[in-house]
Amino acid sequence: MSETIVSREAVMTALRGVKDPELDRSIMDLNMVRDVEIEGSHVHIVIALTVKGCPLRVKIKDDIKQKISEVPGVESVKVEMTVMTDEERMQMIYRNAGEKEAKSNILNRDSKTKIIAVSSGKGGVGKSTVSVNLAVGLSMKGYQVGVMDADIYGFSVPKMLGMEGRPTVFNKAIVPLKAYGMQVMSMGFLVEEDTPVVWRGTMLTGAINQFLRDVLWADLDYLVIDLPPGTGDIALSIINRLPNSKILLVTTPQETAASVAIRAGHLALNAEQEILGVVENMSYFLCPTCGDKSHIFGTGGAEKIATELNTKVLGRIPIEPAVGTGGDTGKPVVYHNEESASAAAFRELVDTIVSQA
Ligand code: ADP
Repeated sequence: MSETIVSREAVMTALRGVKDPELDRSIMDLNMVRDVEIEGSHVHIVIALTVKGCPLRVKIKDDIKQKISEVPGVESVKVEMTVMTDEERMQMIYRNAGEKEAKSNILNRDSKTKIIAVSSGKGGVGKSTVSVNLAVGLSMKGYQVGVMDADIYGFSVPKMLGMEGRPTVFNKAIVPLKAYGMQVMSMGFLVEEDTPVVWRGTMLTGAINQFLRDVLWADLDYLVIDLPPGTGDIALSIINRLPNSKILLVTTPQETAASVAIRAGHLALNAEQEILGVVENMSYFLCPTCGDKSHIFGTGGAEKIATELNTKVLGRIPIEPAVGTGGDTGKPVVYHNEESASAAAFRELVDTIVSQA
C-alpha cells in the first residue's frame, strides 16, 4: 500500500464545493457524502443520492471527479453511488427546507384556495375513497385541485390514484406529483412501499408542517386534505394551521360510525373550524337486477350528525363493488366508471360542494 500523500482536508474542501444541481446546496451540507478513502494518490468517494436513478447522477459524479482531480497529488478518483434511506431522505428534506417562508399561499387567510379537510370518526368508513373521488370530480370540472394525503399512518391516496415516483425538491420547495390533472402530495411518496414506518413524534409534526409550508402548491382552486381518522393531534394541528379550511365529515349510516364522527365534528367546532357538511358513504346498496335500494347498514347516521352539529348532509354514496376495485386498482370510479351509480353520486356531491364551498 502506498503512503498517503493527498491531504484529506483538501479533499473535503473540494467536496464542499460540489453542489447538488437541483437543490443548489453543497453535497456536504446535504449529507450526501458517505465515505472518503484516500490511498496514496487514489481517492474513493461514496455518495448517497436522494433518489434511485437520480437523473443528475452523472452531473454530480462528473463534478466530483473534476473537483477532486484538481486536489494536489490526486491521480485517480473513483465515485460510487448509493441511495439514501427513507429516514435520511426525510431528514435531508427537513434540513433543506429550514425556512420560515411558505412556498405557496395556502396558509394565508386571503388565499383564494378553498380547503376541504376530509375527516371521519374512525377508519374504514371510506374517508380516503371520498377524498380521492371528490378531488378527481373537481378536477374533471376544470378546477385546479391539490390533494394532500395527511393520513400519515395509512396513506392510501397514491395507490388509489395509481401513482408512484417521488417528488423533486426544487429551490427548497417540494414539487407535488401529478395525477388526473391534480397536484398530489403524500407521505407515501417519501417511503418505500410496504415498509413499516415508525415515525417519531417530531418527524410527524415536521412532515405535516412541511406539507403545508414547503410543498409548492401552484394556484389551487381547491385543496382536498385526507386527514387521519379520529381526533388526534395531527388532525388538530392541520386544521388549526389552515384558517380557511372547512371540514367534510365522512360516515357510514351505522350508529357507531356516526357517534365517533360527531366527536370529530365537535373537535373541529372547538377549534373554530367551519363544518362544510356530512357525506354518508356506503349509504345503500342498489340491487343489480331490480334496482331497489337496500339500506344494508341501516339509516339515519348522517342526519344524526348533521342535526347534532347543525350542518347538512351533502351527499350519499352507494356501496358498490366498482368503488372498491377502483380504489384497489388506482382507477377512481368517478373517472373510470362514469355510468355507475356511485360515480353519479360523487358528481352530485361535487356539484353541491362547488355551490357551497
Ligand atoms: P378510510 O379512509 O375511511 O379508512 P377507505 O377509503 O380506505 O376508508 O375505504 C375502506 C375500504 O372500503 C376500501 O377498501 C374501499 O375501497 C372500500 N370502500 C369505500 N367506499 C366504498 C363504497 N362506497 N363502496 C364499496 N367499497 C367502498
